[in-house]
Amino acid sequence: MSLLVSRLLLLTVTICALATDYTQAQQQQQQQQASFDTTHWDDDETHFNSSLSAILVPRVVGSRGHEQVRNYLVNSLNGLGFQTEVDEFKQRVPVLGELTFANVIGYINPQAENFLALACHYDSKYFPNDPGFVGATDSAVPCAILLNTAKTLNTYLLQQFRNRRDLGLMLIFFDGEEAFKDWTNSDSVYGSRHLAKKLARSGQANLGQRYIDRIEVLVLLDLIGARNPKFSSFYENTHGLHSSLVQIEQSLRSAGHLKGNNRMFLNRPAGGLVDDDHRPFLEENVPILHLIATPFPDVWHTPRDNAANLHYPSIRYFNRVFRSFVYEYLKRHTAPVDLRFHRG
Ligand SMILES: [Zn+2]
Repeated sequence: MSLLVSRLLLLTVTICALATDYTQAQQQQQQQQASFDTTHWDDDETHFNSSLSAILVPRVVGSRGHEQVRNYLVNSLNGLGFQTEVDEFKQRVPVLGELTFANVIGYINPQAENFLALACHYDSKYFPNDPGFVGATDSAVPCAILLNTAKTLNTYLLQQFRNRRDLGLMLIFFDGEEAFKDWTNSDSVYGSRHLAKKLARSGQANLGQRYIDRIEVLVLLDLIGARNPKFSSFYENTHGLHSSLVQIEQSLRSAGHLKGNNRMFLNRPAGGLVDDDHRPFLEENVPILHLIATPFPDVWHTPRDNAANLHYPSIRYFNRVFRSFVYEYLKRHTAPVDLRFHRG
C-alpha cells in the first residue's frame, strides 16, 4: 500500500454524509459498544504457527509459492467449515505481463442478509533483486490471524452462529494488492478491484440490491507482526467500531488477559489515509475499518520483513483483541447495522 494522504477523498466522502444519518449511525455504534464483558477465548498458537509457516514463503502472483498458498487457504477454510469460493481472473500487469489472479473467499451463512467481512492480501511483493522476499507483516501475519480467528472461534461459528439469517461472516484473502512496478491506481489492488466490481454487479443489481451492499463493514488487516503496532481510526463512520476495539483491549487488560503497558488501539483519528485494498470497496460506499499499523513497521518492503523480525507477544496480543471483537460483533448483532454514508 502507499501512504497516501488522500484528504481530497476524505472530504468528498465526508460532505456526502447528512448530519442526521451520521447521528443515527453513531447511536447504532454506541449500542454495539455498550459495556464489554468480554468472553475469553483460548489461544491456539500451534494452529497460528503452522498457518503462518505455510503462508510465509515467496508468493508473487504467478509463482509456485503463490499457488501453494492459494491452495492452502482454500483447504484451511474448507477444514474450518467455510463455504469457499475462488474468484479467478487474468490480467496484464507491468513488468511480468499477463498473470492469473485469484481472490479466495470463505463464507459462513452465505445466504444471510448482511455480512461482516474480514480481509487481508496474500500475495507478496515482486522485487527483481530479492526473490526471497516473504512479506511477513505484509501480509502473511494478517492472513494467519484471519485463519486463527476462525479456528479459535470455531465452536461458536459452527454451533451458535451457523444458520443465522441476519448475519454471515466473510473471510476475504485478496490477491494482487502489491504494485509490480510503481504504486498507482492501476498498478495496485488488482484482486480487490476485481472482487468489488463483481460484488457490485451481483445480487439483484437491477433492483438496487447489490451483493456488495450487504457488507456491513469491511475490516482490512495489513502490516501486522512487528513490535507494538499502533492502530488509529481512519474513517468517521466506523469510529464507533474502532472505539469498541479500544474498549475490548481495556476489558481484556483488566481481566489479566493482556500483558505490558503499551496500548495498541488508540482512540484517536489517524492523521491521513493509507491507500490499500479497501479503495474499491470505499468507492462503492462500503464502511471500512482499516487495521493497519501506523507508522508502518520499519522492515516494510525490505528483505528484513521476515520471520526473524516478527514480535510474537504483539501478535498474540492483537489476536486476543481481534478475536473478541469479531465474536462480540457477531454475538451482539440483532438488526442490520447501517454505517454507510448517505448521499444528500
Ligand atoms: Zn506491501
